[in-house]
Amino acid sequence: MDRILSGIKPTGQLTLGNYIGAIKNFAKVQQEGEAYLFIADLHALTLPIDPEFLRNNSRDLAAYYLAAGLDPKKTTIFLQSDVPAHSELAIILQNYLYMGELSRMTQFKDKSAKMKDEAIGLGLFAYPVLMAADIVIYDAKRIPVGEDQLQHIELARDLVHRFNNRYGETLVMPKGELVKVGSRIMSLSDPTKKMSKSDPKGDIYLNDSLEVMRKKIMSAVTDMEARVHYDVEKQPGISNLMTIMSALTGKSFEQIEKEFEGKGYGEFKRAVADAVCAEMEPYKARYEEIVKSGLVDDVLKDGAKRASVVAEATLKRVQKAVGLYNK
Ligand code: ATP
Ligand code: MG
Repeated sequence: MDRILSGIKPTGQLTLGNYIGAIKNFAKVQQEGEAYLFIADLHALTLPIDPEFLRNNSRDLAAYYLAAGLDPKKTTIFLQSDVPAHSELAIILQNYLYMGELSRMTQFKDKSAKMKDEAIGLGLFAYPVLMAADIVIYDAKRIPVGEDQLQHIELARDLVHRFNNRYGETLVMPKGELVKVGSRIMSLSDPTKKMSKSDPKGDIYLNDSLEVMRKKIMSAVTDMEARVHYDVEKQPGISNLMTIMSALTGKSFEQIEKEFEGKGYGEFKRAVADAVCAEMEPYKARYEEIVKSGLVDDVLKDGAKRASVVAEATLKRVQKAVGLYNK
C-alpha cells in the first residue's frame, strides 16, 4: 500500500484555497493508501508568529482536518513538532541541498521579497530541507498538494536522487499530485495572486460566517467582458470563480458557460456563493461539533505515537547509511 503524506502550516486562518486544493481531497485520498497528515507547526515558525496564536491554531487545524471526514483510525494525524525525528533528519539532509537551488525557490523569493536580509531567518531559507525530511521520513510516494508546493517536491526528488546515488537505495522517491480542478485558487480581491492564509486581504476564510463569505464573493473583482467564460489571461476573476464552482459542484467549465450564457455577473456570483455556502454550512457545523467534543488532543497524541514508529525507523536507516557511529 502506498504511503501518502501531506501537511498544512498553522500560520493563519485556513482559506477556501486550502480547502479546495488540499483538505477536501485528503478525505478521498485516505481511502487509497496509508495516509499521514501533519500540522506543520515547525514550518509556521519560519515567519514571526504569536505563540498563543500558534498553539490554538494548531489544534484548530486538526479540527478542520477531522471535520473534512478524515478518520483518525485510518489516517495518522499529528503535530510535526511531536515527532522530533523530522528535525533530526533535516539536520542530516541539509547537507545534500545547495544554496543556489534553495535561493531559486519561488516561495522563498515571495515571502522574503519585502524583507531586509538581516531579518530573513535561516529557517525560511531552509524550509524545503525540512519539507523534504517530512516527506522521506514516511517513505511517502504520493504527496497531494496545491500547485505552489510542486517546486519544493521537485527539490525533494532531486535530493532523493542525489542521496541514493551516493549511499545506495535508502530513500523512497516521492511524487507530487494535484487535484483536477482548483490546485491554485486565486485571491478574490486580486485574481492574479494566489489565495493565501497569511494574506489578510479579502479572501474567504473557513471561519468567516456564511454571510461574510457571500459578501466577499459578491464583491469579487471581475472584468468588463460581460460573459461567463473561462480565460485565465483575459478574465482571471471570472475564471477563478468558475474554478471554485467547478471544484465544489463537479460541473465542467463548459457546463457552467452554457448555464450562464447571456446572464449577468450578479446572477453568476450568486450561484457561486450558493455553491460555497452549500459546502461550507455542513462543514462548519461538523467543525463546531469536533471542537466541542474535545477529541483533538487524543487524536494528536495517538497520531504522534504512530508516526514516531515509522519516522524513527527511517531516521536510523539514514544515520546508518551516512556512517553515524553505532546506530
Ligand atoms: P501561507 O501563506 O502561510 O503559506 P497557504 O495558504 O499558502 O499559507 P500552506 O500551509 O502553505 O497554506 O499550504 C497548505 C496546502 O494548501 C498546500 O498543499 C498548498 O499547496 C495548498 N494551497 C495553499 N494555497 C492554495 C490555493 N490558493 N489554492 C489551492 N491550494 C492551495
Ligand atoms: Mg503557502
